[in-house]
Amino acid sequence: MILETKKNKCVFLDRDGVLNKDIGYLKFPEQLIILPGVIEALKKLKEAGFLLIIVTNQSGIAKGFFYEDDLKKVHNALLEIFNKNNIYIDDIFYCPHHVEGTVEPYNISCDCRKPNTKMIKNSVIKYNIDLSKSYLVGDKDTDIQLAINAGLKSFCVKNDMYEYDKNVVPDYFVEDLAEAAEIIINISNI
Ligand SMILES: [Mg+2]
Ligand SMILES: [Zn+2]
Repeated sequence: MILETKKNKCVFLDRDGVLNKDIGYLKFPEQLIILPGVIEALKKLKEAGFLLIIVTNQSGIAKGFFYEDDLKKVHNALLEIFNKNNIYIDDIFYCPHHVEGTVEPYNISCDCRKPNTKMIKNSVIKYNIDLSKSYLVGDKDTDIQLAINAGLKSFCVKNDMYEYDKNVVPDYFVEDLAEAAEIIINISNI
């Protein structure tokens, strides 16, 4: 008898600018503003059987703008908001590093800062994920480059805060997570 382990499919989510309003180095839970349509989009993705994993660069820790404890409070608050809406986020991976940071031991060049792939690789191992059936939704070139590096289909939520490198092309540009979720569900049902 052959035992076959079914691999999981996952939507990897950038945090700032995708789930909550990007205010730049968000430090306090009170600063969390969930973007329109996010709750419904996450519900639909969950119902479609996707794991939901947040992957976020948080170099504010290396730069001394906030502590890792502050980040944990923000993430607990974020999860609480989603839990209240019956959405279970499977995990949050964050990179606290920056090579030009001032705070030890975070001021290093690392393998986890997007577009490096360590957060994705760790997720794959921990959750037995099939990357060919998985997606990434971000709002910056670094997110899209991460998707390319990891072999994920990518969605870029348009954001007027950033200019996009024409050489880093997402599979889809979308207005918001809701539009990305709709496309993901459509294309993964083919
Ligand atoms: Mg972002
Ligand atoms: Zn890192």
